[in-house]
Amino acid sequence: MRFGGTKKHGDMSPTRFSASVGRATLRRVLFDGLGDVVHFSKGFARYERLEDNRIRAHFNDASSADASLLIDADGAGSRVRQQLLPEATLRDPGQRTIFGKTKLDDATRPLLPAFLHDGFGAVIGTHQRGMALGLMQFQTWLETITVTARLHTRLRPTPDYLTWALTVPVEQLPEPDATMHTLGGLGLLKIAQALTEEWHPDLRTLLAASDTTHIAFTPIRLATPVSPLETTNITLPCDAIHTRFHPFALPFMLVDKLTKLVRSD
Ligand SMILES: Cc1cc2nc3c(=O)[nH]c(=O)nc-3n(C[C@H](O)[C@H](O)[C@H](O)COP(=O)(O)OP(=O)(O)OC[C@H]3O[C@@H](n4cnc5c(N)ncnc54)[C@H](O)[C@@H]3O)c2cc1C
Repeated sequence: MRFGGTKKHGDMSPTRFSASVGRATLRRVLFDGLGDVVHFSKGFARYERLEDNRIRAHFNDASSADASLLIDADGAGSRVRQQLLPEATLRDPGQRTIFGKTKLDDATRPLLPAFLHDGFGAVIGTHQRGMALGLMQFQTWLETITVTARLHTRLRPTPDYLTWALTVPVEQLPEPDATMHTLGGLGLLKIAQALTEEWHPDLRTLLAASDTTHIAFTPIRLATPVSPLETTNITLPCDAIHTRFHPFALPFMLVDKLTKLVRSD
């Protein structure tokens, strides 16, 4: 975990606090001590409300589980949401993202733009192309967090890296979504490089140094607004109910509106 870039560790002011969290480490921390309570590889299919108001979750392998509370942390395509709130659909804003990681070493570290030491950064390119950049520098790692001895042995230091996410309008991609999903890291990297050919040479070198086993493609989806939910024992947290508004969508929409306004004069 990294607190606030170069800012002093411990500055928890909501207007200045910024933290990068290694997801693999966070996952190990969250699973610590849960033992066989967690079951993997079970696709959720549907739920049923029982007579005593408990919830029965049915899975694709025909098994089921009963509980007093259903928290559907199944992301943007939530099956629970589709059943509970069929009117809460997702909209395709026409943007696609290729994202990856670049390991930081003596060759790549000097190429980082200075602003990244203060938190996440955005590169706004031409042709509605943009890139989010995040410096994942875990300098405050294990020494400053308290963990159990058992967990301590399972946590491994994560090497520092740069995370990048290139977002472009769908019509600028050379392949349809279905093909993009099958391309693999190297194929996606080549497309990302072609789309950033005129960008700063340092950024291009950082992109070229990416770990091709960690490059992926995702369509951006936006949640449509829904009425306030009634509180029940089925909850819809995070992307299951509200996908985040994409950071590049606002500036692009503003430019689009201003262009239309100027052209209508
Ligand atoms: C490139 C990229 C970068 C991002 N960076 C950031 C960031 O820096 N900070 C940030 O706050 N957010 C970031 N986000 C957004 C963030 O990933 C999501 O907002 C967050 O992961 C949402 O968490 P979630 O638990 O709702 O869904 P997810 O993380 O999508 O998890 C859903 C889980 O449910 C599982 N699942 C789906 N369907 C079923 C089913 N039927 N049965 C069983 N399991 C199922 C999936 O396999 C998955 O494991 C980023 C997203 C992307 C794509």
